[in-house]
Amino acid sequence: MSDGFRLTHKKQRTFKTKNMASYYNENTIVWLNGAFVKASEAKMDFYSQSLHYGYSVFEGIRSYKTEKGTTKIFKAKEHYDRLQQSAEALNMPYHWTSEELIDATYEVLKRNNLQDAYIRPVIYAPANMSFVRNKESFIIIEVWEMLPFLGEKLLRVFTSSFQRPNPKGFKIHAKAGGHYVNSILASQEAKANGYDEALLTDMNGFVAEGPGANIFYEKDGKLFTPSAGNILTGITRATVLEICDELGIPVEEKLFTVDELKKADAAFFCGTAAEVIGWESLDDVKFPKQWNETVSRKIQEVYMDKVKEASPNASQGGAYQHTAPIVEEAV
Ligand code: PMP
Repeated sequence: MSDGFRLTHKKQRTFKTKNMASYYNENTIVWLNGAFVKASEAKMDFYSQSLHYGYSVFEGIRSYKTEKGTTKIFKAKEHYDRLQQSAEALNMPYHWTSEELIDATYEVLKRNNLQDAYIRPVIYAPANMSFVRNKESFIIIEVWEMLPFLGEKLLRVFTSSFQRPNPKGFKIHAKAGGHYVNSILASQEAKANGYDEALLTDMNGFVAEGPGANIFYEKDGKLFTPSAGNILTGITRATVLEICDELGIPVEEKLFTVDELKKADAAFFCGTAAEVIGWESLDDVKFPKQWNETVSRKIQEVYMDKVKEASPNASQGGAYQHTAPIVEEAV
C-alpha cells in the first residue's frame, strides 16, 4: 500500500514524533555489513550513489509470532532471493547468501526482542557521483515492530493520475529504491484527494498495482489479477495464487481495465506489509458484495493462518486481536 499499510499499536516499540513514525530508539540494533550495531550509531556515506540517484535495492519482509509462540520469518528465502535478483538486475555487486542473511535477520529480531516485525534489508552503493558500476555494495538490515491485521478495515481506493514506470525504462521486477518515487507520488495524491490508497495503471492504461501491493478482484466467485510484465509480481500475490490452488478457487491472470474492475463483486490489495486487505470502493464506486461473504475474505483468513502457522480457521476463533487503524509505514 502506500508503500504498504501497516498497523500501529499501543505497545508498539517505535514511537511517534509530530507527524512521522520513528522506527528505532536508542536501544535498537541493526545489522550493518556483518556487525550488530546501534541504529543510532550506524553511519553511511552521504556521497553514496544510492542517496543521490535512488540506486539501491531493498526488501520488505515480515516475521510473525506463530501459534506455537516461535518467531517465523514468512517466506524468508523467497524474499532474500529476490533481494539478490534485484541487486543483480541493477548491476550491484552482491556477495551474500540468502542463508547467511536469514540467520542474521533472526539474530537481529532476537536482539531487539521482536517477534511480530517488519524487516527491511537495504543494499546500497558506495560514494560515486558518476553512473559507472561500483566494485562493492553495502547492506543494512533494520527491524521494527509490526502487528498482524485482523482485516476488518476496508479501503477507499483512488485511480491515480500516475502510471507505473515503463518496463522499458526500469527493471520493473527489481525492488529498487528509485522506483518508489512513483509510489510516493501516487500515494500522496490519493491521500490529498481524501482516499486511503492509490491504484496505478500501466503505461497502456490497464490496471497494474498499488504503490506497494498487488491487486486482485473477485467476480462470481472467480479471482482475477493483472498478469506479469508491468508489475512487481509479489511474494504475497504468489501466496494468494497458491491458496486459490489449495482451495480450488478459480483464478486468472490477465490484463483488465479500471472500468472492468469497477464491475467486480469485491477487490483487495495484497503485499507483505498490507497482507490481504479488502476494498470498500474504487473512485467512490462501492463493491456490492459484503466483504465477509466474499471468497476474498476466505483468502484473507487463510493467508493469516499461513503466516502465523495456525491451524485452519484459527482466525475465526479469535486468534487475531489486533484491529488497529492502518497507517502507512512500509511496503
Ligand atoms: N508491488 C509493489 C510495487 C510493491 O512495492 C510490493 C511490496 N513489496 C508488492 C507489489 C507486493 O510484493 P510482496 O507481496 O512481495 O510484498
